[in-house]
Amino acid sequence: MPGFELFGAEEKKEVQDVLDNGVLMRYGFDPMRNGHHKALELEKDLAKRMQTKYAQVVSSGTAALTVALASAEIGSGDEVIMPTFTFVASFEAILSVGAVPVLCDIDDTLTLDPKAVETAITPKTKAIMPVHMCGSMADLSALKAICDQHNLILLEDACQAIGGTYDNKPLGSYGDLGCFSFDYVKTITCGEGGGIITNSKKFADRAHKYQDHGHDHVGNDRGAETHPFLGYNYRLSELNAAVGIAQLRKLDTTLATQEKNYSILRHALEAIPEVTFRRVPETGVESYAFLNLFLPNENLARNAHKALGAHGVDACFYWFDNNWHYYKKWEHLLEQKSLGRLSEEVQNGLKKNNRSFEASDAWMGRTISCLIKLSWTEEEVNKRASKMVEAIKSVL
Ligand SMILES: *Cc1c(COP(=O)(O)O)cnc(C)c1O
Repeated sequence: MPGFELFGAEEKKEVQDVLDNGVLMRYGFDPMRNGHHKALELEKDLAKRMQTKYAQVVSSGTAALTVALASAEIGSGDEVIMPTFTFVASFEAILSVGAVPVLCDIDDTLTLDPKAVETAITPKTKAIMPVHMCGSMADLSALKAICDQHNLILLEDACQAIGGTYDNKPLGSYGDLGCFSFDYVKTITCGEGGGIITNSKKFADRAHKYQDHGHDHVGNDRGAETHPFLGYNYRLSELNAAVGIAQLRKLDTTLATQEKNYSILRHALEAIPEVTFRRVPETGVESYAFLNLFLPNENLARNAHKALGAHGVDACFYWFDNNWHYYKKWEHLLEQKSLGRLSEEVQNGLKKNNRSFEASDAWMGRTISCLIKLSWTEEEVNKRASKMVEAIKSVL
């Protein structure tokens, strides 16, 4: 997955364009910039590649989620349903617009279980946020049907699955809004950055203004712009955008490399009857950023994870114990350790999360995710495959 493995001459050339004219900001300064509008260019390229009408780039994936939520008019006390397995950014973005993250069980897709989502809906629910963790997606048609029935926003967090598809549509483009992260360890990196895609002019217009203090960007004179509504600063710099342009151009070769490496590892592991794999919903195609596997029980998964490490197989994660990605270690959220006072409504809403999530625990306890790198040679992947088989067999 990490796009930084492919950082090279193409990225440097794009960055050099920006350095040559010295305009590091995306708005204004037109006479100095020699026609270079890197953030704008990245938006055009992203919308084209993702087959959506609009794209908005911002300063991070967390900012993308925040701006997307704000664009859908999600605010104080509204509830957003999100999975127990994700990156902490999901609940941070929800809290930052004043809304309440409501945790919900996952299933064998390793993201939102539509049946559990239905039971989590209340009159305050405004949006459902599936997170396409580790290269594969939620059952989007089932979630979309629930959203249609209850008049909810479907916001896809595709930060870890750029390039995957569902129903022949790029992940992120199926729901009302989709978000990507271009942080340093993602499939495409800008150093730091994020993107929002949508087919809604209304959401795109709002996102465009919201990420730049609510400015309307009418005319060339920033001083003369008006502010139709409140916003913040989530702008992406031209330097970061320049890196992203070169990285996005490589996306399809990156995906092909991921698929090739993934397939070699998967094929080898399929020979072990005790190993099974994450369910990819019908009509879904993974981005192959990770290979996600299940062992028959938690004990075996823990032992297999240790054995992989002992056999020198790096970059395999046992998320169940991880403090960034699984709810059990989010004590700051569960214990409401906010620096500033949270509103009573948010405090009460968050109390819903203080319960057990047995289905999530059952799946995550058995899961190991292995990062697929781009820089491996074929020989390295083959060697890795046999080491993985050896490691896992040693604990069975
Ligand atoms: C990385 C990530 C984010 C946040 O992206 P940043 O660019 O690091 O802010 C959000 N959601 C998921 C699933 C991620 O993996």
